[in-house]
Amino acid sequence: MADSETYDIVIIGLGAHGSSTLWHLSRTGKKIAGIDRFRPPHQRGSSHGESRIIRQAYHENPLYVPLVRASYPIWKELGQIAGKPLYKKTGGLFLGKKDSTVVSGARLSADTHNIPYDYLDATTIRNRFSAFRPGDDTVGVLEHEAGILFPEAAIATFLHTAAANGAQVNTDEQVMAIFPSKEAIELTTTKRKYRTAKLIVTAGAWLNTLFPELNLPLSIRRQPLFWFRDRAATGSPDRSITTTRSPAPVEAPIFLWEYEKGQMFYGIPDLGDCLKLGWHHDGRIISPDELSQNVEKEEIAAMQQTATQYLAIDPIFQKSCVCMYTTTPDEDFIIDLHPDHPNIVIASPCSGHGFKFSAIIGRLLTDLALDRPTGFDLAPFSIRRKALVDARAIKGAKA
Ligand SMILES: Cc1cc2nc3c(=O)[nH]c(=O)nc-3n(C[C@H](O)[C@H](O)[C@H](O)COP(=O)(O)OP(=O)(O)OC[C@H]3O[C@@H](n4cnc5c(N)ncnc54)[C@H](O)[C@@H]3O)c2cc1C
Repeated sequence: MADSETYDIVIIGLGAHGSSTLWHLSRTGKKIAGIDRFRPPHQRGSSHGESRIIRQAYHENPLYVPLVRASYPIWKELGQIAGKPLYKKTGGLFLGKKDSTVVSGARLSADTHNIPYDYLDATTIRNRFSAFRPGDDTVGVLEHEAGILFPEAAIATFLHTAAANGAQVNTDEQVMAIFPSKEAIELTTTKRKYRTAKLIVTAGAWLNTLFPELNLPLSIRRQPLFWFRDRAATGSPDRSITTTRSPAPVEAPIFLWEYEKGQMFYGIPDLGDCLKLGWHHDGRIISPDELSQNVEKEEIAAMQQTATQYLAIDPIFQKSCVCMYTTTPDEDFIIDLHPDHPNIVIASPCSGHGFKFSAIIGRLLTDLALDRPTGFDLAPFSIRRKALVDARAIKGAKA
């Protein structure tokens, strides 16, 4: 191999978070490179499947609201750069029993941060959204700014623009080893060697393969996605307009439904005639290199049954894909410096809800790499937080 190429900052992993970081960094004048083992946007990680939900009434924890609010203007700016919107406002309906995590958590975030919302009982939900079949004890939180992001187009725009700004974008190149020291970090990849003052690692489901010594308690779960068409809509000349009972029309909100305690599924109205559905969490644990796009017949049938039970549609399966969640024990992100090497920034902002934040997280990782204040409290995302330390201890004891 030739001598090392030298950079101020290198990023490993150019998915949602790495591509955003490369774009933010490309505006700082630093000499930077991003490396990915595949050619993003691709179907091998966590950022594919045509659409992602963005929402503010954040049932997970109110601490995420300032972050998501800071992401909206960046998504709008990126859409202007792309020449097409990368955020589509649809509103969001969060359904469940009154005391469910989704409903009570969404209200807590909305009340804490003055997010306008409508609180709907089952009758009102049925009257306003005839596509939903809530039981009498189901309520809904309707948030107005929620909507859809387009992950593949966003990643492509981040990368093209970063490259146009002078960033090196090296794809189909896998980082094989990292050699940190106080002065600089050396990397070897399948193609060359790098020497860099700072390193940012946004390797998604592969984070633990790059830092086995950290033994991070991350579970990698296979998450299938399904697209259905309503039989009633089939054959209609303009299905997106003429179907009034399908959630498919563009005017329908995205939704997240806690139909049993802790069991959630979500839906994204498509811009055409298909409704995209998925379960939130509960996927089978896999190793990331095992990911295949095969979806079993039983999985399709199970989602069809859920759709039939909770939505007023007759769902005809159209297509599927499979993605990965990289989940921490408390489902909060990891955004921190490496505990032993402060010149390495590590980020795992996933747990199945990270995409919407990637616009702002790229800026936070840029700030961390440049030793600048981020303006956000990142303590909840520390590698040393109790939930992670305790889980690592249990994992270590089992090993
Ligand atoms: C089915 C599904 C639905 C989701 N829905 C939503 C949603 O509605 N809203 C939301 O906000 N979030 C959602 N998420 C979560 C969100 O998509 C993820 O949190 C986010 O995309 C993760 O991005 P990432 O950059 O961490 O990972 P990725 O995009 O997977 O990027 C990691 C990159 O690192 C590269 N890499 C790994 N190892 C190496 C190496 N050794 N050398 C070089 N490159 C390497 C990989 O090739 C990959 O490109 C969903 C996730 C899934 C799977």
